[in-house]
Amino acid sequence: MTLTLEKARAGYRRLDVFRAKGSPRDVGEQLGGRFADEARRGLEIFRKELTWEKGATMDGARRYARKVLPRIEAWFPDFLEEMRGYASGSGIRFDLLAAQWSGYSSALAGKGCTDVAVTGEQTADGSVLVAHSEDYTPDYEGVVVPVHVSVDGKPGFFAMSYQGLFPTMGFNDAGISLTGNAVSPNDARVGIPKMIPPRRVLEARTLMEGLEWSMPEARGSSFNNIVCSRDGELYSMEGSGTTFDALYGEDGWLVHTNHYLSPKMWRFEANLHAKFCSILRYNRARRLLRAALGRVTPETIMGIQRDHLGRPDSICRHVNPAAPSEDESKTLFGSIVNLTSGEVYISGSTPCDTEYRAYRLGS
Ligand SMILES: [Zn+2]
Repeated sequence: MTLTLEKARAGYRRLDVFRAKGSPRDVGEQLGGRFADEARRGLEIFRKELTWEKGATMDGARRYARKVLPRIEAWFPDFLEEMRGYASGSGIRFDLLAAQWSGYSSALAGKGCTDVAVTGEQTADGSVLVAHSEDYTPDYEGVVVPVHVSVDGKPGFFAMSYQGLFPTMGFNDAGISLTGNAVSPNDARVGIPKMIPPRRVLEARTLMEGLEWSMPEARGSSFNNIVCSRDGELYSMEGSGTTFDALYGEDGWLVHTNHYLSPKMWRFEANLHAKFCSILRYNRARRLLRAALGRVTPETIMGIQRDHLGRPDSICRHVNPAAPSEDESKTLFGSIVNLTSGEVYISGSTPCDTEYRAYRLGS
């Protein structure tokens, strides 16, 4: 069995990953320089998203960013330095970059994502596997890119990041992973933008730091942040603006999509009637994973990420032609982290029709 798996893994082509290292400012400048085109595209998409929201304007977003920047400064000043470096490296004005990622627009809500995590008790070779597929506006195709970042004095991490700067999934060389799902809380407030905690979790040296940093008390809103460790501890941190529940991977596995699972969180769900796709993907992923428990491999999870039950609103998601343009969503990439071996597998686009490539952290 081991030989077969090794042979299968040896068959993956190497993923091309951009490496950035140095001080927070240096890292930001390198990322901004490399991903300036993606930064410009990201800003264009944000301008378009603003037109979908009643009363939303770029000036409003800039004013909102000025309110939240001091809160980021107080909680994670190094990342603000990285953003400043990124602005200078990419040529995008800092106030526009901050406006774009401040959490002002709610367009980031509820477009998808299906996550699976499995401990060594349930995998074929004892590895801990954590997987995430990213479903979002088709415009972002190619804007979410693989990076390997080493900030001086902190654990190095691999991430798939929006325009190279804002991670949506990743793991670090201290054996901590961060994945997760958009949720739609009804208690959002002015506070640390939800894009910031996932980035800080990737600097965690311990599981405890990862959990704490996934839910800063001064946050404005939250994702469901899935924080796992190489020891096989699996946590799904279902957050809203004001509270959270920590769901644990009982029996060595968990699945999460885009609606709140904890009864404690049900009253924070903005509109459960908008969550049928999430419910479908959640149950389908559980059923497929349950059938493979005890012998799960990365390839098992690739199979789940390619599943088309309910297409186009399936786990492998395709644009639904009946959806209005602001609700369009597709799978931008599939990812599987092997926390035990330090490897990650990434599909370049929709998992059903693009190959997975492999990267080893530290390589
Ligand atoms: Zn597909």
